[in-house]
Amino acid sequence: MEIALVGIGKIAVDQHVPAIAASDEWSLAATVSRQGAVEGVTGYTNFDQMLAERPDIRVVSLCVPPGPRFDYAVAALRAGRHVMLEKPPGATLAECYQLEALARENRVALFATWHSREAAGVAQAKEWLIGKRLRRLSVTWREDVHRWHPGQAWIWEPAGMGVFDPGINALSIVTEILPDPIHLTSADLDIPSNCQTPIGARLNFYHPHGAEVTADFDWRQTGDQIWTIDVETDQGTLSLLNGGATVVIDGQQIDMAGTNTLSGEYPRLYRRMAELVRQGGVDVDLSPMIHVTDALALGRRTVVDPFFD
Ligand code: NAP
Repeated sequence: MEIALVGIGKIAVDQHVPAIAASDEWSLAATVSRQGAVEGVTGYTNFDQMLAERPDIRVVSLCVPPGPRFDYAVAALRAGRHVMLEKPPGATLAECYQLEALARENRVALFATWHSREAAGVAQAKEWLIGKRLRRLSVTWREDVHRWHPGQAWIWEPAGMGVFDPGINALSIVTEILPDPIHLTSADLDIPSNCQTPIGARLNFYHPHGAEVTADFDWRQTGDQIWTIDVETDQGTLSLLNGGATVVIDGQQIDMAGTNTLSGEYPRLYRRMAELVRQGGVDVDLSPMIHVTDALALGRRTVVDPFFD
């Protein structure tokens, strides 16, 4: 299937282009980007022009930031194209509901992807938790924003979500592995004095059986980078390390030999998208985003030092 990639920035280059190239189901037929390009692939700078001139391209994958993504998605769905959305699926929940309705109306596939759910250890963690009573779950997602997001001004604007841009990846794992629904009860947000979005956030959640569920997201981490979820149950402990790539159960690291730990995330997403296109399916789970919008609604804000790229 021919596909167009829209927004040739960091994630498109790092993950989408290689995943498409390695797939025998997909062929990259065009890109749309104001500045980026992929060698050997027809490049457009105007999305509407690409949609009009290339009716043969039935699928588009949107890698632009969440702020501008809605307009691209609406144009594509109205033009009868199947659409794959990078995370987070939009700037607001209402936007995402509209996209879902539009996809159903136009009988095309819509996939709101959560790449971290495809990390190698996530399915195993989910299975391990079945039938166990949760006592505690804590997320620690601490990384250096200078290292992972250099020059990305959009993350500091209202739709950019700040530290929730990586934090929502952790929440996508938590909402996938926990058998019971949780909801946010309180949050503390650290907002740099010259920015609109948080550089740090600490979240507390309600759990129906009284378990303590918390998350600590921070972009000011130096040294070791931490993407960990620790779980304590009545029948032992589990840790997901390295963004979900590594599983430790009761202190024993599980051998993931033969599993393509993190590098398998995007190939798995594209395989799922191919299935959805064949079925005309809609796969939109907004639960990770609900927790972020709740944190932005309930969060107690503290102004902290200004941020300079
Ligand atoms: P990025 O490097 O800043 O790239 C964003 C791309 O979107 C650029 O190609 C940019 O310019 C295009 N774009 C179109 N309209 C834009 C606008 N109004 N403002 C800014 N850029 C605009 O960002 P990224 O890291 O690739 O992230 C894109 C999406 O992928 C985000 O939703 C992010 O959460 C998600 N993601 C990122 C990572 C990561 O490690 N960076 C990992 C997983 C998911 P052109 O028009 O020139 O193409």
